[in-house]
Amino acid sequence: MYENYTKTSCPRCRATEISPDPYPPCQCLVPFKTETIHRSEVPTWIRVLYRDFDLVNLTPHAINLPDGVIIPPSGKIARVEMVTEDVDTVNGIPLTVSWAVGPVNLPEPCEGTLFIVSRMVAAAAEREDLVFPGELERDENGRVIGCKTFEVIE
Ligand SMILES: [Zn+2]
Repeated sequence: MYENYTKTSCPRCRATEISPDPYPPCQCLVPFKTETIHRSEVPTWIRVLYRDFDLVNLTPHAINLPDGVIIPPSGKIARVEMVTEDVDTVNGIPLTVSWAVGPVNLPEPCEGTLFIVSRMVAAAAEREDLVFPGELERDENGRVIGCKTFEVIE
């Protein structure tokens, strides 16, 4: 579990992010202010202590667990960086290929902390501290309302 987190804030628009590593809070092109804060000061919506692990949600969506626990997005979004290249055209429309060049925005591993990411990020990163929603819970209209299991890449 992280003892300390970094609070990064923008002096111009006052946007703030709190995450294990510094993370840009906005798109302003100004120097951000960073400050180290202790885990006890981190709002619980960022660091959800869940049984044996701290779970840090690196997806843009809240994760609803079967026991009613909701893990809101931490604000930091892990994603897979893609590169796209034009290869041809089809009826004048560009035809492209893209491929993954690696995961971005993943914090350093930390004992006792699991990061919730997308399956794509977990597959690209090959780390043992990444989980993604496995079996999903849906309402009668098929809309995803939660996840029943976490899954790992083998
Ligand atoms: Zn800003």
